[in-house]
Formats: sequence, C-alpha cells, structure tokens
Amino acid sequence: MTSSLPLRAAVAAITLAVASCALALPAKVSVTPPSGARLLEGQRFDLRVEGLGTGPFRATLTLDGAPLAFTSGAQDTVETDGISPKEGTAQWGGFNVRGHAIRRPGPHLLEATFTDATGTVKVSSTIQVLGRRADRADRAGRGPPGHGDGVKNVIILLGDGMGVAHRTAGRIVKYGVSGGDPNGHLEMDALPGTGLVSTHSLNSVITDSAPGMACYSTGSHANNNQEGVYPAHVVSPFFQPRVEYMAEYLHRVKGASLGIVTTADVEDATPAANAVHTGNRNAGTGIVDQYLDEAGSSGLRVLLGGGRRWFLPAGRFGSSRTAATDYAGLPADLVAAWGLPAAAAGAADPARDLLGDFQRAGFAYVDSASALAGLRGHAPEKLLGLFGYGNMNVALDKVAKRRGTPLADGTYVVDHYHAPDQPMLDEMTEAALAVLSKDRDGFVLLVEGAHVDKQSHLMDADRAIGEVLELDAAVGVARRFAEAHRDTLVLVLADHECSGFSLIGGLVGGIDHLKALPSEAGALDPATVPARQAAVGIYEAAGFPRYAIQPDGYPATMDIDGKVLVGYGASGDRFETWLAKPLPVIDSLLPGDVKGELAMRGYGAEPVKRASDASGFFLRGHAPGLQAVHTAADIPLSAASPGSDAWLDFVGVQTNTDVFFKAMRAVLSGRD
Ligand SMILES: [Zn+2]
Repeated sequence: MTSSLPLRAAVAAITLAVASCALALPAKVSVTPPSGARLLEGQRFDLRVEGLGTGPFRATLTLDGAPLAFTSGAQDTVETDGISPKEGTAQWGGFNVRGHAIRRPGPHLLEATFTDATGTVKVSSTIQVLGRRADRADRAGRGPPGHGDGVKNVIILLGDGMGVAHRTAGRIVKYGVSGGDPNGHLEMDALPGTGLVSTHSLNSVITDSAPGMACYSTGSHANNNQEGVYPAHVVSPFFQPRVEYMAEYLHRVKGASLGIVTTADVEDATPAANAVHTGNRNAGTGIVDQYLDEAGSSGLRVLLGGGRRWFLPAGRFGSSRTAATDYAGLPADLVAAWGLPAAAAGAADPARDLLGDFQRAGFAYVDSASALAGLRGHAPEKLLGLFGYGNMNVALDKVAKRRGTPLADGTYVVDHYHAPDQPMLDEMTEAALAVLSKDRDGFVLLVEGAHVDKQSHLMDADRAIGEVLELDAAVGVARRFAEAHRDTLVLVLADHECSGFSLIGGLVGGIDHLKALPSEAGALDPATVPARQAAVGIYEAAGFPRYAIQPDGYPATMDIDGKVLVGYGASGDRFETWLAKPLPVIDSLLPGDVKGELAMRGYGAEPVKRASDASGFFLRGHAPGLQAVHTAADIPLSAASPGSDAWLDFVGVQTNTDVFFKAMRAVLSGRD
C-alpha cells in the first residue's frame, strides 16, 4: 500500500532570464519553501528568496501570481535582510516573508526573481497545502472519516534509531520463544495499527535525528542537522526560515500544551525538534534558552530529561553554556510575525541562570527520581526535571543502582555520572501525563528513548536492548492512559534505524567458557577463526535464549548461556567479546568536567577503547569513523486510538512527513 496522501508536485523549474550583460548571473538562487514541501492549511511558515552574487540585490516574489510583500528586505529595492552572510569575495542577498500561512488546500506556485549587478535569475517552487480534513480520495477507499470520540491528545513515543530488529531483540530478551512462537509481546507490539515509514531527509537518504524528528512535528523535510527550519544562508542558524511545529499550531488554534520527555540531554536533536527552530542541532545554549523564551508559543509545560549543564551559568561545575552556541537578536520581522515577546529575540548570555528563569516562569523543578516521585498525587502546573548533567544514563546502569548490584569495585556508573537517583522513562512519562492531562485543551507529548540509538552507535547490544525495554515500559504507561482517556492517539515510531542492528545468532559454549577464553586481540588473519566467532550459534544452533526477567522488568543479567548475539550492518571498528560491558563508553553529551572524571576512571572514549574489550577479536567496520552509523532502512510504526479509528490512517507504507498530517487531521478534523 502506498501513502494515502497526495503525491508531491513536480520538481522545481529553474529558468534563466536574459542576462543584461555577459557577466555571470547571480548563483544558487532559490525560493523557500523548496518545491515539494507540504504544509497544513493555516500552518505558519517563512518564505525566502536568496542568491549569491554581487550586490546591490533586488527580488520579487509572487504566490499564485499575486505579489507577496517581504517583511525584511524591501520589495524590489536593493535592501536585503541584513542577515545574509558573505561567502569569500561574493555575498549572499536575502529577502524574507515571515509567519505566512495559506488557507486554501491544493498546489501553490511560488515564483521569484533575484537580481544583482549582473542580471536577473527567475526561480519557482510548487508547494502543496493539505486540508485539515482528509477528503474521500485521501482515505484510499477505507470508508468514511473517523468517528467516535475523536482525538484530543497526541503521544509520540520515539525509540531513537529503533528498527525492526531492535524491537525483535527486546521481545526475545523479555519473553523468549517456544516452539516457534514468542512467549509474549511487547507493549508496542500490541497497538492495533502497524505501518512502515521511510525516513529520508531533504538532502540525504540517510537522516540524522534533527530532521528525523522534525518531519513528524512539522510535516516538512529539512536538511540533516536542521530542526523546524528550511535551509538558507544566514548568519545564525536560528535566523533560518521557520516552519510551525505541531505543538505551536495546536497551542495557537486550540490552546494545547506540549510535553517533552527524553532520556537524552534536553538540548539533543529529537527533543528540541518539537519546540526549537534552528539549523544547527548542536547549538545547545541557544536551544535550551529558546525552550523557555518561546514557551508561550509552543505551550511547553513539561520538560524532563538530562542536560542540567545548559541551565547552569558558565563557570559553575558542569556548565556547558557558551556564547558560541547561543544566539542574539532574532530578526525583528521574525519576532513580530511569529508573535514572540521582545525578550525572545535572545541575548548571548552564557552567565544566564536558566534554571532560576524556568522557576520564575512558574515551572516546578525536580532533579532526582525521589523528587519526581514526591509529586505523585499533586502534579504542578508546569514541570522541569533535569536528572543529569548531560544525557541520562541507560536503563541497565540505572537499574544496577536501584538493585544494589555495583561494579567489581563496589561503585556505580550513575554515581560516576553525578546522577545517582535518576527516574526510569515510564516514571517520567507518568509524571508528564499527570501535568498535561490537567489541560482540557489537549496536549502533544513526545517521549524519547534516546539511547537505543546512542548505544547502537557504540555497538553495545546489551545496553541498546535494555533501552528498548525501558521505552516499552513507557509505551505501557501511554497505552493505559489512552484506555482511560480514549481521545488519545498513541504513536510508537523511530526517526531512523541505527547501526544495521541484526540478530545473527545465539551464544554457544556458555558464558563461563566464553569468559575463560584467552585474548584474541591479535586475530586479524582471515584464515584464523577467532574462538569468539566460533561461539556464534547460527540457525538452529541459536536455539531459544531465555533471560531471567526480574520484577523490575529487566533481565537479571544479559550474560546468559545462549544469549542473543548482535551484528551491525553499518558498523564502525570494534572489538567483539559478546560479553556485557561493565562500563558504557563515555557519553558524548556530557560537560567536559564529567567527561574528564570518567576518563580518569578508565571509561573508554570510543568503542575501540573499552578496557573490557581487550580479549575480543577486532572487526573492521563498514563505515568510516569509530562508531556505527544510521541506515536508510524503513522503520516500524505502531498506532492506537481507543476512541476513534484514527489509528487506521497509519497502516501501510508512508513517508515520514505523512505522519504529521495524519496526526494533525486526527486532532483537527471537524474543526473550522
Ligand atoms: Zn544516531
């Protein structure tokens, strides 16, 4: 089955006008949104005409033949927007229309001219506006539009990097298999609608998490590293043309709230791609400032995860705030057209006490699992929870502390990370729902299991599988909420697959035998069969692994005889031991202070530097660099909406941006 949404319009037509002289015409002239972009009826977006050449510049822009007035860079004059950069000896010129919206569904033609001292170039782009209500043809003969209680709340549970095999691994580890059948199914397996989603970005078949999430939250594709914006050449990534987020739209038209829950640092791409508009996913200081400065537009009421480093003034232990990752002076026309308060223009303020600013804005603040649990029964109006300096720890390391099963030296990984008391993702989800469900106008909640991706990059299969189980427990919370609040749409999906995660077999010979093998770090000759390669039981030798699941929902140990063994189709270099690794690789999203301490304790900085891998055999990766990478494989999606048939729309094969329109129509159909 193909997408039930209209296919894109044709590619851009670029026409060269007659040059006024023999000199080179302006280069790289473009009009944004790019051809093929799709927007929802009434969804706000910025338009931009830009080009590279020799000033002075002029530009014109029409929409379906009618002139549009630029909000910066005056129409048909030599004035540009003041935010276009120099490039070598040449110069970019740009003209913008901020905060526009189109009400009429269908294709719309943008035609622009861009003129410099050497002549004029014409460009055009055809964009598509989709109505709030699906028409009959859109539903591909699947019957009348949705009925029942409709949809008020949208919960998106995103396993970053989670492909089909990650889900299969989680199910095998948690439930086992007998006589060819799973002994049980994950919570996410039980959602009634299943679909496949292609995950490409605007500039590659292989996306990163920024456009990977933003396509679900905006309906538009972006280039890699970009979230909530279209590509452009401007002096700050925060000045790029914006496209309105799902939460911003629903807050504007019906007062809905936004909740963001992640096991990552809250500045990371997936959480930020719900509320922050930037062309640089790594601009942490500005990203976290924008969460608060534009909370009035996004409706942000819950922010739970790691990342305390961005909320502490520069100079304090664990702070990562710098002017270099901040922004200042958002363009005046952007601030005005998007209805932002003057303070949202921003300032380069590494010394800002953002934690204090959040609290002064009415957010209750918690920094531990115990403090979060203390809110049960009396949820605040707004909630900020920061449970670590950078990314939170993975499930297995958090569980080790909760169980009281330390490392060999009696210490705990979470203590080394200065985050001894962190909540699990299902506990964070429960707390978020307690706050958000107080809002009668509905909400959008993003719940991210971030480390499925991060541990797959690091080729730590045991920790990656533990993350699938942690996300699945959160899916269980969402499912129970949706059963009680039937006007809730639950989507479980991923932004992309990571590592080419592949279940290749089961361990033969036993864990004790494996642990006793001599080191084979020198086994590089293809004629030599490393003993640990011989320990891979394939086909029937893989048998039926059976893990001992504890009351907390996680295996007693990942090192069982017959354990699931994982290979990586998109691998980086690594040593393979098949054994669980006592220490994770140093997380990249941590303040330098903490990274330094971990290095002193013997944590590896990359997969090939793990001390515990010294006995393993070396495997040369397929991909350059020292980590596994994302793949272009489709990802599975699961959908449920107990009070309506909205979930049916997600069945089949679809492109990632379709998910936005389907979810928005589920919420908005029947409204004018
Ligand atoms: Zn990734």
